[in-house]
Amino acid sequence: MLDLSLAQVRTALRTRKVSARELARAQLDAVAALNPRLNAFITVTPDLAERHAAAADAALARGEHGPLTGIPLAIKDLFCTEGVRTTAASRILDTFVPPYESTVTANLLRDGAVFLGKANLDEFAMGSSNMTSAFGPVANPWTRTGDNRPLVPGGSSGGSAAAVAARLAFGATATDTGGSIRQPASFCGIAGIKPTYGRCSRWGVVAFASSLDQAGPLARSVEDCAILLGSMAGFDAKDSTSADLAVPDFAAACARGVKGLRIGVPREYRSDSMAPEIEALWQQGVGWLRQQGAEIIDVSLPHTKYALATYYIVAPAEASSNLARYDGVRFGHRAAGEDLIELYERTRAEGFGAEVRRRIMIGTYVLSAGYYDAYYLRAQKVRALILRDFTEAFRHCDALLTPTAPSAAFGQGEKMDDPVTMYLNDVFTVPANMAGIPGLSVPAGLDAQGLPLGLQVLGRPFDEETVFAVGAAIERAAGFTHRPSIRAGA
Ligand code: GLN
Repeated sequence: MLDLSLAQVRTALRTRKVSARELARAQLDAVAALNPRLNAFITVTPDLAERHAAAADAALARGEHGPLTGIPLAIKDLFCTEGVRTTAASRILDTFVPPYESTVTANLLRDGAVFLGKANLDEFAMGSSNMTSAFGPVANPWTRTGDNRPLVPGGSSGGSAAAVAARLAFGATATDTGGSIRQPASFCGIAGIKPTYGRCSRWGVVAFASSLDQAGPLARSVEDCAILLGSMAGFDAKDSTSADLAVPDFAAACARGVKGLRIGVPREYRSDSMAPEIEALWQQGVGWLRQQGAEIIDVSLPHTKYALATYYIVAPAEASSNLARYDGVRFGHRAAGEDLIELYERTRAEGFGAEVRRRIMIGTYVLSAGYYDAYYLRAQKVRALILRDFTEAFRHCDALLTPTAPSAAFGQGEKMDDPVTMYLNDVFTVPANMAGIPGLSVPAGLDAQGLPLGLQVLGRPFDEETVFAVGAAIERAAGFTHRPSIRAGA
């Protein structure tokens, strides 16, 4: 049962083959059995899950059901959940219990979802490996063939991705500021979409870099992501950057096919240092789309090469400003001090981990009076050029196809000594955040060591439907049925 897709288990619930309570219990048992190994959840909420499941069963008994009635989900611990501790994987928030529900999670509850608990992540969503969590690293449920050493699930939504891949949830919420939905999806062999900036409300999501942050789903199939995004998305007056647009039927778009679509292959995403397996998979993806009737065209995104450097100015700048609110007075952790300044300093020194402190220092530096023009202002100008590249490319094509990440999952502890090597994980995902466009990662194959690799589909702003159509076409052709070694029922 736990191995079904979200769409399939939804049918099982609606036809009463399983009750929401039975399903929630089976799912919670699996979490209890595997979470000690994976550390995918920071907080498990059995009572809340039971309550949501009981309400779902009552609704199903009345013949009333929403799009997600009875579906067990994991919630990234960056979404505020009313009455449930929300930590952002930081010591500074380890006792924070929000008095309100984020809009995205409220939308999921409105549609009948069952919340299993809060998923682990990199501290304040800063990272690509889940190694920066104050609650310890997450293990990827996948391991290399013949090698049991733990690998990272990617980050920052590593707990969400590991939970979904290990069959500990049918889907999860996640956020993507520079790749944190798509890169963990790729590392864990599942699907994930960062929608267009403004598609999902940011209200009640702990802020990292407000002009880049977007919520989106992780799930085991493209259609499951489409179903989840349909519930998560929508206009919200409480977020001034939320788009006042109707939410299309994303799930229906998955069946559209790609006949007649023009798919661009950006030449700047090809580098000599790219692993031959990733290059080969990319070519295979191009072939699959061509076979299904798409036209493939070569496109250029000349400013892509500046995207990562620009991101690591803009994101820390906004982070340093957003994180100023954690002062020991208003939220969570507080250290004693002789006076107010010392209280601030000690609270922040104790509360923030090394990566978060690094970002705050970079951010305050690039925003400081002497360097603002040289770094921050310059980065904003380059950001406009990155967007212009995409706008130009989308005059000639309907979607773009690229690899999701430059490598498969790596070992826990690897790349930790050199932040720049770690930041390179985001080289293919960051441009979409800089431009605000939607991006989907689809599992497309395994590397020689038996680890999953994803392909990324990028689309026009607010055209997630085409992105889903292309992603589903790749999924059908790839026929990815591999499963990780650590999973419920294995
Ligand atoms: N890895 C990127 C970073 O550390 C992206 C994180 C994210 O998307 N939240 O900033």
